[in-house]
Amino acid sequence: MKFEHQNRQASALKPRDIGLILSYRCMANCAHCIYNCSPNWHDWMTEDAVQTALENEKACWGEGFQVHLTGGEPFLNFPLLLKAARIAHQLGIPVYVETNAGWVKRYEFAADRFQQLRDAGMMAVLVSVSPFHQESIPLEQTLHGISAARSVFGAERVMAYQSEWLPVPEMSQYGLKEKIPLNRYIEMYGKQQAGLRLWMGFGLISGGRAGYRLGKWIPKRPAESFENESCRQELLFSQHSHMDLYGNFIPGFCGGISLGDWHGLDSMVDQYRMGKLPLAVQILANNGPFGLFEIAAETYGYMPLRDGYAGKCHLCVDVRAHLERQGMYQEIFTPALFYQNL
Ligand code: SF4
Ligand code: SF4
Repeated sequence: MKFEHQNRQASALKPRDIGLILSYRCMANCAHCIYNCSPNWHDWMTEDAVQTALENEKACWGEGFQVHLTGGEPFLNFPLLLKAARIAHQLGIPVYVETNAGWVKRYEFAADRFQQLRDAGMMAVLVSVSPFHQESIPLEQTLHGISAARSVFGAERVMAYQSEWLPVPEMSQYGLKEKIPLNRYIEMYGKQQAGLRLWMGFGLISGGRAGYRLGKWIPKRPAESFENESCRQELLFSQHSHMDLYGNFIPGFCGGISLGDWHGLDSMVDQYRMGKLPLAVQILANNGPFGLFEIAAETYGYMPLRDGYAGKCHLCVDVRAHLERQGMYQEIFTPALFYQNL
């Protein structure tokens, strides 16, 4: 049994799809954003850091992984995005870009940008589509972005994620040029059905600001109901992870958690594979956010939210934000702005 555990531990931190968060800056401020991106962020990764991050990935994992360039919104710094695509291509790393298309004002402009990226070695494009994005990005822009990308990359290399929201027939009365507030779904379906449709239909994660902004639309649960939910899989064995401009290695979809500094990726991964986890990560991996909750409530004066939590990641974020404000585990619960932008 012990051998099995050690064997499994030895395969920790081996993601197949790694996002480089070039910036948390975004023109949108989506209610479901698990990284708390918004126009309030200003920093960008440097070109040198992109080079180092990608070289470190290559040295650590060799082959068999791909990279997506993301944010925030990476097209807000197109020269950096272009350079990053070139660097990945030169290193032989398959690379795609994730965008919300909020920068697409004209089809021709978008097609030209996609062509430059393709020439730089970009392999594919993912365009985000959801009711949450449509609160600030009219569907017309998204559609232009998708067709411009398809004209350059071909339909099979452009993914609309999630395409079932493209367009939502019930919302057609509002036209393609309008931003559609989420309240329209409540007017259309009533609170309960709208909540179900948005949470289950999109497969929302309650981390980031999602639990706070969207939690009112689903039944909440008390902290105790998450008692037996550990996060070992998400923290240590996720196929999808991120590296951000501040040096943070972010596991799974756990915005605001850093497993360590990717500048020393190799040795960081070795530590985890030897089972040497920082205390806060150990608590979450073994006992989930309820384990963190107990410590925060017993020792650091954390008070549970009166109405409960929309999911285990909501509980996790709320407890982490409290501990971070108390100066606890700040090297793991980072970047600080994540907690200020909830
Ligand atoms: S979900 Fe995407 S588009 Fe929305 S705020 Fe976050 S990064 Fe920006
Ligand atoms: S509860 Fe926390 S550690 Fe677990 S998956 Fe959610 S954000 Fe990650």
